[in-house]
Amino acid sequence: MAIRQEDRAAPGLIGRLNGRHHRAALNVYLLIVVGHWAEHLVQAYQIWVLGLPRPQARGVLGQFYPWLVTSEWLHYGYAIVMLIGLFLLRPGFVGRSKTWWTIALALQFWHHIEHLLLLIQVQAGVTFFGAAAPTSIVQLVVPRVELHLFYNSVVFIPMVIAMYLHLRPNPAELETMACSCRPSYMPRPVATPTPSAA
Ligand SMILES: [Zn+2]
Repeated sequence: MAIRQEDRAAPGLIGRLNGRHHRAALNVYLLIVVGHWAEHLVQAYQIWVLGLPRPQARGVLGQFYPWLVTSEWLHYGYAIVMLIGLFLLRPGFVGRSKTWWTIALALQFWHHIEHLLLLIQVQAGVTFFGAAAPTSIVQLVVPRVELHLFYNSVVFIPMVIAMYLHLRPNPAELETMACSCRPSYMPRPVATPTPSAA
């Protein structure tokens, strides 16, 4: 039965990413997202616990490579990579997990627009809203460090809920799952029957 499920998946790279490699792809993606989010948490710790001035609160990697924090290209690059990941890995999700994943995708889309606005200002050498430094829309209300800690958190939470539910499908979701995250997934047709795989 698992073999037929796999055959239902789309062909090509997207099909493989959402089929036999879905679980591995999700793990790699999660690792990248957690690493980035951890940097934001460290930055928050540096500001609110260690009392560092904001320009000096640059996370872990930023202490060694300050340009990692100051480059709007890099921030934008990360935001778009995260958005593409959410988009590419979405077809493998079904049912409740797909709903949560889609929420993460929608929130990341907006987060990415905010970074796009910052990047445009740096590239054009202008600032919007009469601000002294490049400023995004919600940044008019919430300071940058807090805002992006918030953005990364509100994208991370539905993403993790989606992954959790995806690995614990209900019977209806199990019916429609075609990826390697299925509890009884078998990567390819095997000669010998494996009744214990379920
Ligand atoms: Zn999956």
